[in-house]
Amino acid sequence: MPPRGTIIEAKDFAQRHGAWIAARLGRLPKAAPFLPGTLVPLRGVPHKIVHRAGERGTVWTETRDSGEKILCVAGGIEHTERRVLDFLKREARRDLQKASDAYAEQLGVKVKRLSIRDQSSRWGSCTSAGSLSFSWRLILAPPFVLDYLAAHEVAHLIEMNHSARFWKVCGKICGSVERAKKWLDTCGNDLHRYGVED
Ligand SMILES: [Zn+2]
Repeated sequence: MPPRGTIIEAKDFAQRHGAWIAARLGRLPKAAPFLPGTLVPLRGVPHKIVHRAGERGTVWTETRDSGEKILCVAGGIEHTERRVLDFLKREARRDLQKASDAYAEQLGVKVKRLSIRDQSSRWGSCTSAGSLSFSWRLILAPPFVLDYLAAHEVAHLIEMNHSARFWKVCGKICGSVERAKKWLDTCGNDLHRYGVED
C-alpha cells in the first residue's frame, strides 16, 4: 500500500484485482515449501511435515501424543516436495469429487469430468460441456470452503452465469456460501504461500 493510501482504497483495489494479486503471489518464492518442519494446513488443520526415511509408504498423517498433527513423508528427502504435492492433489480430488457428486445428485445433473489444476488465479471453473476443474489448494482450506467451491461449480451446470437465479441454486445446496466467500476474501491469498510454483 502506498504511504498516502487509505485502507478503503487498498481494500477496493484488492477486491477489484484479486485474481491479479493471486497470480503475482503464485510467482513469488514460496514462504512455506513442502519440506520437513513446514506447517501445512490440511483441511484447515495445521500439520507439520516430518521426513520418515526408513519407513514404507509414501505420505500419511499421524497425531502425536501431544496432540500435534504431522504429515509423514517416506523415501528420499529429494522427493519430499513432490510427494507432498501429489498427496495433496489426491486428497483434493477425492474431497472435490465426493462433494461435487453429492451436489450434482441434489440438482439432478451430472459431472462429466473433474480435473485438479495448479491454476493460481481461479479456485474453480466449469465448462458448458459439464467439465469442472478446481485448484488443489482448496484442500488446504477448511472443508466448508472446498464444499462451497464444489457447490458453486456444480450450480453452473444449471446456470452458466452469476445471476440471482444462479445464487439461488447455489444457496439451495450449500449452507455456507457467505461464510466461505468471506473466508476466501480474507484468507484465500495465503494459500498461495505453500509448496511449489503454480
Ligand atoms: Zn462462478
